Amino acid sequence: MSQAVQERGTAGGDQGVEHVEVLIVGAGISGIGAAYHLTQEHPDRRFVVLDALDGFGGTWWTHRYPGVRSDSDLFTFGYRFKPWKGAPLASAEEILKYLAEVIEENDLDSRIRYRHKITAADWSAEERRWTVEATVVDTGEEVRLTTDFLWMCGGYYRHAEGYTPTWPGMEDFEGRIVHPQTWPEDIELGGKRVVVIGSGATAATLIPAIASECAHATMLQRSPTFFFIRPNSNELADTLRELDIPDEWTHEIVRRKVVHDGNLITKMAEESPEELRAFLIETIREHLPPGFDVERHFNPTYRPWQQRIAVLPDGDLFAAMREGAASVVTDQIDSFTPTGIRLASGEELEADIVITATGFDLSVLGDIALSIDGEKVDPADTVTYRGIMFTGVPNMASVFGYFRASWTLRADLISDFVCRLLAHLDERGATVVTPQLRDEDRDMVLGPWVDPENFNPGYLMRSMHLMPKQGDRDPWLMLHDYAMEKDLLPQADLEDGALRYE
Ligand SMILES: Cc1cc2nc3c(=O)[nH]c(=O)nc-3n(C[C@H](O)[C@H](O)[C@H](O)COP(=O)(O)OP(=O)(O)OC[C@H]3O[C@@H](n4cnc5c(N)ncnc54)[C@H](O)[C@@H]3O)c2cc1C
Repeated sequence: MSQAVQERGTAGGDQGVEHVEVLIVGAGISGIGAAYHLTQEHPDRRFVVLDALDGFGGTWWTHRYPGVRSDSDLFTFGYRFKPWKGAPLASAEEILKYLAEVIEENDLDSRIRYRHKITAADWSAEERRWTVEATVVDTGEEVRLTTDFLWMCGGYYRHAEGYTPTWPGMEDFEGRIVHPQTWPEDIELGGKRVVVIGSGATAATLIPAIASECAHATMLQRSPTFFFIRPNSNELADTLRELDIPDEWTHEIVRRKVVHDGNLITKMAEESPEELRAFLIETIREHLPPGFDVERHFNPTYRPWQQRIAVLPDGDLFAAMREGAASVVTDQIDSFTPTGIRLASGEELEADIVITATGFDLSVLGDIALSIDGEKVDPADTVTYRGIMFTGVPNMASVFGYFRASWTLRADLISDFVCRLLAHLDERGATVVTPQLRDEDRDMVLGPWVDPENFNPGYLMRSMHLMPKQGDRDPWLMLHDYAMEKDLLPQADLEDGALRYE
């Protein structure tokens, strides 16, 4: 056993402060996955998972609006290691149940500490460890831990509150304004005229779930979104299940099929976007009454896949529109009035309740104030190593998933990578790993975390300047491509000079 391994996790500088070898930030699907992989690959390593919320699940804990569900199939949004046994699209409740099973089956509960909001992390070069500051949310108590390795699984948006733009006259509105991310338990929709601002996945999920209950639901959008209509079933999975194929096989086979089909759509979006546009629009047309102005309301100005394509199981949103329970208005908001919303066209929408499905506030690395020997680190000044680590920042990895494929596909790959890196440190007898640009990378052209030409949802465009940069070559690229990364990441050369070991 190397000296580094023997010394790992022994008490260091700050006596009396709890020390863990790995500290995972976040108990969402990424953090629970990270904890699982760590227990499998490094069973002796001491680690904890800290989360600011009261329970596990992250996104699926926070979002409680009616109808909240996945947009991806759970064969790929679920983990590689735990078969999904239900229908492809799942409710928050079903996803939480699946995560609860992962926690129980792998004895992870004792590792997770809830109501711990991490506020700061400082790396000490001398002690070769992070000191992490957290606030216990309900008591206000300040807690300090030290860790050798910080594994950021805090997702990409702020959980406490969603993003709501300000419109003139909002304060005069006599009804209620609600953001889906902070859904109030006491809201009464029965018989109410509801306007939902936005037409992304949240609005498209929410409207069919509330339309039959309220007097009328109007989807008010500034510009259209692409929708993909699909049944909430998977023929291949159904066949394999009928044949009594073991769940593990079914899971793996269906994952491959989903990834394969997803790649075909992405390829089509790149190579013949207008053909894909025509296909998507025509399917929508079939679900709406003759004469419906599909062009105006459902033909976006951007190319398919420049923003996430929202999924509609069996076209449920359009069923609500056909039945007259819901409708769509494409216009700009001029201002709120005491009784509703005045539009740029002059039309007024009467409303008792306005739901702002207007998105998220991006959170960069869990909004944790990072520093190295007391000196502030601005993530925007760093270059990402494979979309996982950051130049000049030692012993830290972060999970950021795919936009066009399920987030968890990447979370699993990153877990493999981190576990391999930890083993490599041990083998090398090193305790510190820091990405650094090599001489041949110094002239590299730096670009944003995501190329806006390629993918440009609002929450990213508003805050991209806060994100780390990427370079123009391997290993400084953030590849948004599972098909490539599934082969590249497991083979990534850990000795190519881009990682400095001490
Ligand atoms: C309604 C909704 C539906 C979605 N559906 C899909 C889908 O179908 N497919 C898909 O691929 N993606 C989907 N997404 C994106 C989704 O957020 C991710 O795919 C995935 O859930 C992210 O998991 P995560 O664990 O990385 O982050 P999150 O789910 O955001 O969890 C992060 C956790 O980290 C904690 N945390 C963050 N910072 C700190 C801190 N400083 N201190 C302590 N704790 C902290 C948070 O409290 C939270 O519990 C959806 C998003 C939303 C909002």
